[in-house]
Amino acid sequence: MDTATDLLVRAIDRTRLDEVRRNDADGHGNQVAPFAATGQGEPLRCCLRYAEPGEHIALISYAPFDHPSVWTEVGPVYIHAAPCDGYPTSERLPAQLSTGPRLLRTYRADDTKNYEHNTVVPDQVALEPIIQRLLSHADVATVHVRNLDSQCFMYAVGAGHASGDDPA
Ligand SMILES: [Zn+2]
Repeated sequence: MDTATDLLVRAIDRTRLDEVRRNDADGHGNQVAPFAATGQGEPLRCCLRYAEPGEHIALISYAPFDHPSVWTEVGPVYIHAAPCDGYPTSERLPAQLSTGPRLLRTYRADDTKNYEHNTVVPDQVALEPIIQRLLSHADVATVHVRNLDSQCFMYAVGAGHASGDDPA
């Protein structure tokens, strides 16, 4: 039996972002207004890395849940203003966003929040082993990684499955 839980890192869904870019609206009443990144701490939720100076980015409102839920929270996220490569489906945490300080929010399989396992990760501490431990609980299906100070959504991590073991 494997001791470590396989991780599945999920950035913002590309089709949702393309819809925002195509409509020039974030779905929460805001127009998409591109500007040049300063490069001084704008984490891009499409590519899961910090923006380089001068890159065309936008700040939009985003809700991680795309279905009605009392735990839906809408908050600001930076994205590339134009369609980009995004973050590939991956078992690896994004290198630039893999340590504390962060808040890890835990959710059950039905997307209800599991308050019991919400975890604060201190500065410089690696997130991966902590996320693996959280996902090893039967009642934790998804972990949302958030900023600690502003609590803005960064990305989601679920338990991955080794290829070939699907019951179907
Ligand atoms: Zn991007």
